Amino acid sequence: MNNDKIFLSPPHMSGNEMDYIQEAFETNWIAPVGPNIDAFEKEMANYIEANDAVAVSSGTAAIHLALSLLNVGKGDRVFCSSLTFVASANPILYQGGEPVFIDSEPESWNMSPEALERALHEAFLEKKLPKAIIVVHLYGQSAKMDEIMALANHYNVPIIEDAAESLGSTYKGKASGVLGELGIYSFNGNKIITTSGGGMLVCQNSDLAKKARFLATQARDEALHYQHSKLGFNYRMSNVLAGIGRAQLEVLEDRVAIRRTVFQRYHQELHQLPGVFFMEELQHTRSNRWLTTLTIDKEVTGVSTNSILKSLSDANIEARPVWKPLHLQPLFKGTKFYLHREDQCVSERLFNTGICLPSGSSLKEVEQMMVIDCLRNAMNC
Ligand SMILES: *Cc1c(COP(=O)(O)O)cnc(C)c1O
Repeated sequence: MNNDKIFLSPPHMSGNEMDYIQEAFETNWIAPVGPNIDAFEKEMANYIEANDAVAVSSGTAAIHLALSLLNVGKGDRVFCSSLTFVASANPILYQGGEPVFIDSEPESWNMSPEALERALHEAFLEKKLPKAIIVVHLYGQSAKMDEIMALANHYNVPIIEDAAESLGSTYKGKASGVLGELGIYSFNGNKIITTSGGGMLVCQNSDLAKKARFLATQARDEALHYQHSKLGFNYRMSNVLAGIGRAQLEVLEDRVAIRRTVFQRYHQELHQLPGVFFMEELQHTRSNRWLTTLTIDKEVTGVSTNSILKSLSDANIEARPVWKPLHLQPLFKGTKFYLHREDQCVSERLFNTGICLPSGSSLKEVEQMMVIDCLRNAMNC
């Protein structure tokens, strides 16, 4: 049998990356900018049908730029999904802002419009509306954007879509990440496509994109000498890495198709087991199925998620719990948090019962069957 470790979501190169890298080397466009960056930005904007896209050093940097573009400063509130990776909210702290976390709703696992409505209403009464709302599209599943955007529009608060995990996903036919004022993607090594490390900021407004490029290159004024009137960052993507991104973008649709097949195989083999529930795909959305996620009801199965994770780990299979909600993180102790409903903390339940399964586009069918067998054994069925 194959004893190689089965990874959660390893990088998967297409084979064309070296051509773009080679070209960058041959033309000595190694740094700081270069034709791969311009082309990658155009190709991304084209693919997601966005007005403009700015290639940066990470998804986290893209969120930081987005907050900076929206003038989030000291003491300003920013609402953010609680059930997410810490990188969604860290840039709020970089800017000296005050995060407020919003619970999930059970269908999409993403930001609860009910909780958001209460949070916005209270903030309005306190005359302290947030400067932005960061909406995360978890594991490739789009949030309930119609409901969320209606609320945001009503209170006139801009939306930043954290689409780090959902490149290739759609909401009512539109790419996830292009519905809000600003959107961000990540090309970290574990995402659906990767540049080894990188991100993209997406703007519907070309002036904002121009300003983002300015801020991401140390906010250097137009002058021969180095002059600066604003605080900037060193956040641009390198031309070499943009070359990797171009080759990866060419195979994105193929990667989405494979991840969706991986999901279907897990679903087919496991959905009939009592106490096992897969993350649904909301109506009118397409998930890229970045990670297949399910919850285990311990009352029914008799086994906890932790013991299942242990069995998988003993079999050299990398699986993970669902993100630990940010309102439960020691870093954010004391932060305001709005529940889905008064007696219902959805994100905490998902954290306690959820598992992410190996879902890489290079996962072999035999490997996936090993994961499935291992899960069945762990649950004695
Ligand atoms: C990966 C990720 C990020 C951060 O992206 P990096 O490129 O690693 O900085 C932000 N938000 C979410 C939800 C992510 O999964």
